Amino acid sequence: MKSCVIVGGGLVGLAIAAKLLHVVPGLKLTLLEKEQALGKHQSTHNSGVLHAGLYYKPGSVKARMAVSGIKQMTAFCQKYEIAHEICGKIVVAVSDEEIPRLRTLIERGTANGLQGLAWLERDQIVAREPHVAGKAAVLVPEEGIVDYAGVCEALRQRILERGGAISLGFNVLRLTRLEKGWRVESAGQSVEAEFLVNCAGLQCDRIGRLAGVKDGSQIVPFRGDYYKLRPEREGLVRHLIYPVPDPAFPFLGVHFTRMIHGGVEAGPNAVLALKREGYGRLDFAAGDALETLLFPGLWRFAVKHGVMCGQEVARAMSKNLFCRSLQRLVPDVVKEDLVPGGAGVRAQAMTRDGTLVQDFEIQQDKQSLHVLNAPSPGATASLAIADELLTRLGLSTCTL
Ligand SMILES: Cc1cc2nc3c(=O)[nH]c(=O)nc-3n(C[C@H](O)[C@H](O)[C@H](O)COP(=O)(O)OP(=O)(O)OC[C@H]3O[C@@H](n4cnc5c(N)ncnc54)[C@H](O)[C@@H]3O)c2cc1C
Repeated sequence: MKSCVIVGGGLVGLAIAAKLLHVVPGLKLTLLEKEQALGKHQSTHNSGVLHAGLYYKPGSVKARMAVSGIKQMTAFCQKYEIAHEICGKIVVAVSDEEIPRLRTLIERGTANGLQGLAWLERDQIVAREPHVAGKAAVLVPEEGIVDYAGVCEALRQRILERGGAISLGFNVLRLTRLEKGWRVESAGQSVEAEFLVNCAGLQCDRIGRLAGVKDGSQIVPFRGDYYKLRPEREGLVRHLIYPVPDPAFPFLGVHFTRMIHGGVEAGPNAVLALKREGYGRLDFAAGDALETLLFPGLWRFAVKHGVMCGQEVARAMSKNLFCRSLQRLVPDVVKEDLVPGGAGVRAQAMTRDGTLVQDFEIQQDKQSLHVLNAPSPGATASLAIADELLTRLGLSTCTL
């Protein structure tokens, strides 16, 4: 490969760009980002957590990449002095019904190779997190928190120092297959390259379709809203406190996260977004909304999971209900402790039969690679996803 164009300047696009430049000497690489800055969508609208691979089905791509991803990401942060902290997290069962699911999680984590997992009884939970309710918990000591904006910036520097080009404000609208590669066009600019890598996050299915990918799945955007604890109540949470997730969904449930630069966030919920990159509750884009609402998979999903969808919509509209979900984990939290925080929108692929794609999804042909599903823990795993892309290209993996 002599030249390559990457669409998308989030963590995944930045990681593959930096690694390609590392392993292919003399590569002419251009990274195209439609915004005026890098990492402005999922990569910085997230919980800021380093996930170690507790939840994911053993043998899945997600499990493999979370486990190797957190190691690489932590080493990268150490090397480039990016703020991070391995503070550990607990996943808490608050009812008897959740205990077997918690046991399944510890089995999964063990099968995935996580180190130091521990089953905590009530007194051990309270010793670690005095305000947490719960019958039992699993401690995941390898997990932590990180400054993902700092990671984006460090990756940007690695790309530039190896001669890569980054073009901001380049909104890819057209892809034309040439005899040897691609012409990639925005409204006023054009770039040609032998190879194309699609890391467009919330737009990856659209970029895939422009390139002729016939995958059948579609990105269905799920917004997640956060609250913050008022500073004087931050003492309710010491580290990371998560509920036992519903295994039917890839979302982890509203949790408490201590942030790397201070403060405690609570959230995110998961509610259908009517604008793919819209962070306000009332944000709406006609094209996005129409495409989502006309997708047959969405209605099949809604029929299958009607109760959950209704509960999520109610919780998105009611601070009382949001607070009640949080009180299951920390009963002392009251509505007055919560002030509005930010929001993120998940790029979640759904198939036409209404199934949420649980695993990471990558497709390729001779001239292109497409990352078609990289939701959480995609930020933690971004350097490992880049290695996977290198492997698929027949190149050796590397450490930055
Ligand atoms: C609410 C929430 C919480 C999360 N929490 C965590 C967490 O704690 N830990 C974790 O590991 N993961 C978490 N994730 C997941 C993680 O953030 C994502 O997996 C990861 O950021 C995906 O990176 P990306 O580069 O694929 O996508 P993005 O960061 O969305 O980047 C895609 C980029 O492509 C650009 N783009 C799109 N279309 C075009 C176009 N036509 N032309 C040019 N550029 C284009 C976009 O502007 C964007 O910059 C969370 C996600 C959300 C939404």
